[in-house]
Amino acid sequence: MTRKLFVTTALPYANANFHIGHIMEYTQADIWVRFQRMMGSEVHFVCADDAHGAPIMISAEKAGKTPQEFVAGIAAGRKQYLDGFHISFDNWSSTDSAENHALSKEIYKSLRANELISVKTIEQFFDPQKSMFLPDRFIKGECPKCGAKDQYGDSCEVCGAVYSPTELHNPFSVLTGATPVLKSSEHYFFRLSDPRCVEFLEQWTQTPGRLQGEVLNKIKEWFTKDEDGNGGLGDWDISRDAPYFGIEIPDAPGKYFYVWLDAPIGYLASLKNYFEKSGRDFDAFMADENTEQVHFIGKDITYFHTLFWPAMLQFSGRKTPNHVFVHGFLTINGGEKMSKSRGTGLDPLKYLSLGMNAEWLRYYLAAKLNSKVEDVDFNPDDFVARVNSDLVGKYINIASRAAGFLSKRFGGQLSADVGVEGNTLLDALRAHKGQILELYETREFGKALREIMLLADRVNEYVDQNKPWELAKLEGKGQVLQDVCTVCIEAFRLLSIYLKPVLPALVAQVENFLQVAPMRFDDADRVLGDHRIGVYEHLMQRVDPKLLEALFEPPAAPKVVPGGEDIAPEIKIDDFTKVDLRVARIVKAELVEGSDKLLRLTLDAGEGRLRNVFSGIRSAYKPEQLEGKLTVMVANLAPRKMKFGVSEGMVLAASDADEKTHPGVFVLEPFPGAVPGMRIR
Ligand SMILES: [Zn+2]
Repeated sequence: MTRKLFVTTALPYANANFHIGHIMEYTQADIWVRFQRMMGSEVHFVCADDAHGAPIMISAEKAGKTPQEFVAGIAAGRKQYLDGFHISFDNWSSTDSAENHALSKEIYKSLRANELISVKTIEQFFDPQKSMFLPDRFIKGECPKCGAKDQYGDSCEVCGAVYSPTELHNPFSVLTGATPVLKSSEHYFFRLSDPRCVEFLEQWTQTPGRLQGEVLNKIKEWFTKDEDGNGGLGDWDISRDAPYFGIEIPDAPGKYFYVWLDAPIGYLASLKNYFEKSGRDFDAFMADENTEQVHFIGKDITYFHTLFWPAMLQFSGRKTPNHVFVHGFLTINGGEKMSKSRGTGLDPLKYLSLGMNAEWLRYYLAAKLNSKVEDVDFNPDDFVARVNSDLVGKYINIASRAAGFLSKRFGGQLSADVGVEGNTLLDALRAHKGQILELYETREFGKALREIMLLADRVNEYVDQNKPWELAKLEGKGQVLQDVCTVCIEAFRLLSIYLKPVLPALVAQVENFLQVAPMRFDDADRVLGDHRIGVYEHLMQRVDPKLLEALFEPPAAPKVVPGGEDIAPEIKIDDFTKVDLRVARIVKAELVEGSDKLLRLTLDAGEGRLRNVFSGIRSAYKPEQLEGKLTVMVANLAPRKMKFGVSEGMVLAASDADEKTHPGVFVLEPFPGAVPGMRIR
């Protein structure tokens, strides 16, 4: 029976372009989807922009756009990545679509009819300077579970805990640096703690094959209550107060669905949008018990997808996911993880703009991916080695070693029968098909590629033993030469079928060269036989390691030559340590009446008090560009009485001695992770 699959990747938040972590997830899902398509399954692979929420509202405001204009601009930038890396979504939509507005309200009303919505007055963090309730991601502080610093208000990136922002220790507003105040408001809750939900989820999560083992272990922690009865599944706050960019809650003016409520519903909405465009019946497809619903996600959003999402679907009378496949993060050279919100390092567009082949990256990522929730490390040397020695050296090489003889000597004609030795090799390659399919199905892509490369080794051994280049020089060996080269081409065709989910564009070229229709897995059971192939053209270059250096080179500095200020006389380390430099947060920045040079800064250097510092940076910055940012200050500079007040320190900024050629003043900012009070040493 043909499988019917509805497959998604996590919806990216529409306030930034993709980073390499997105490309890894899409590649993982795309390989699985292409595998299923090659098996003859009916697959619908969709995604959408996650377009709502206060962060987008704030970003749009900063950019001087409406939220709709802002997310449309982000959406317009998606295609170059998806096409560039051969990601084959059938549809890309937005959670601000008409379908999502309608579905979110429907699902909410069903949950309400099921008495799973409650209303409570809660106290929530409010930024007194900005006069708005603060979204979770605009409050930071210390994780209440593990104590990790600099964590967002909704979940901890270190221990994975999900909590409400009021539970954070030492919270601050990311917008202004102010300490948020509690203000009460009526909020709507999804009652996940209801015994019906708990009972359902216990059974749903434990269904064999649905979730990975590591995910189940994590979920067990979330279910568990401590001795005092705390912990366990808690109700989920699903409303936010205006001003908010989102979907208004039915019968609750001024209240909007929290973005995380309508985001996963966006999976269904994108499928519905796609089905409506292509004249299919969405309700019938989702009601079909044979339809399998599969989500690929990163480990940071496991809670939402394995608890809230299935419970919402179940109690609104809908199909629940058959699988939630969780992957780890991508790290670069053992470095910092590429999470949704803090991606840096390998810029996917830069990769493409350097002319690097997208399928090198697809092959490399596939070689490192497995079915576990493990982080994947991108190592440049390993990348070069795997692409050059495996992909090009072992696989591509087979075609290039045989194709020339066939076209020059035999007009591309293959032997109809290749004899016993050749057939033995080809049968051995076919015998591994079942195992390779199983590895793709279970997302053990690394093992699948290892298996395929072992087969390529056997083919290369066959070539080395039969030496077509020597046969070509001998009289009367024409038939043997044609047979040996035919075996090589058949073997190359089989390996190409096996690699096609990973290397779709390359294998399209191979199909053209072999003069065959687009290949599926059952084509491996056939032989080309009496067939004429096309002329071989070089299929893939090796990676030049210099490209990797260019890829990781920091963006080129503007081409200016500093004005030639001499380096100051040498000092000893003791001289340096006399200067106490501290990380400080610019809590407030204001114009100074009567001065066109100065800004008045209120700085928090982690001392439990704030400092007043005047800084001559008015020409370079507007106050709102500075508020909330971290900088570096001289903390032990003697206070200086000025016309406008006392300055209690100095903020560090860079400038050139020759202001005419290189104008500007640039305030220093530490890398992410620094907190006020840290000393610079
Ligand atoms: Zn934590």
